[in-house]
Amino acid sequence: MVAAEGAVRRRIRVTGTVQGVGFRPFVYRHATRLGLRGWVQNDSAGVLIEVEGDAPAVDEVTRLLTDEPPPLARVGNVSTESVPVAGDAAFAILDSGHDGEPTAPVSVDTATCAACLAEVDDPADRRFRYPFTNCTDCGPRYTIVRSVPYDRPGTTMAGFTMCPACQAEYDDPADRRFHAQPNACPECGPRLRWSLSGAEGDAALDATVAALRSGAVVAVKGIGGFHLAVDATDATAVAELRRRKSRDHKPFAVMVADLNAARALCSLGAAAAEALMSPGRPVVI
Ligand SMILES: [Zn+2]
Ligand SMILES: [Zn+2]
Repeated sequence: MVAAEGAVRRRIRVTGTVQGVGFRPFVYRHATRLGLRGWVQNDSAGVLIEVEGDAPAVDEVTRLLTDEPPPLARVGNVSTESVPVAGDAAFAILDSGHDGEPTAPVSVDTATCAACLAEVDDPADRRFRYPFTNCTDCGPRYTIVRSVPYDRPGTTMAGFTMCPACQAEYDDPADRRFHAQPNACPECGPRLRWSLSGAEGDAALDATVAALRSGAVVAVKGIGGFHLAVDATDATAVAELRRRKSRDHKPFAVMVADLNAARALCSLGAAAAEALMSPGRPVVI
């Protein structure tokens, strides 16, 4: 291959929470926009990049890594070194490197983003009412990861083979599900199932609601484990959950649909409201 006149090449090592946060697609988009060649990959220490092209463009992509990283990324350190020009034809996302001890932290789970919620609410969308909808900006990370580098084969989603429509999203650099490892839809992903009857989908959801309304304790198996749920307005059901958990006094978390529902139950300060709506949707005390 022939290197372009005046081209420089830089190897860039990025550490921090940079896997499972759309970092590789982010680098890919900017590198191709700036006309750079080279590659990006996840490895056991974080993200490794080599970019080649005009020096100002190489400087610009390096600057973006620290100044404007993807919203869920927490960049620790960015180190660079000049390396010989190699003359790549294009920019590529390479398969993950597996050398060395795994040290890269994986992002926390993140609540469903507004774009995904809009799809779930849209009767014309193929993910209408699909509870496991996610994208590069949201969805499970830490609870599904079994090993780093963070790639689908190293997650609990490994058993779900993407359908052609999901695979096309995953492969399209312009799509917001480009390299979204937990990408799924009703055709190919996990489904709701009510284990007592085997009912699936909306029928499983209806059975769950009916059980909660009747005062039952329901074990909800999610992507990260079980949690136990009761109707919080049913004192008998709550007492039964306390008895089973041997948890006489410690408060339980109350789940609500939105801020208005929370405000109907308690006084909510600005900081608490902000925390409740932050991407992690934490339990707020
Ligand atoms: Zn999303
Ligand atoms: Zn699918």
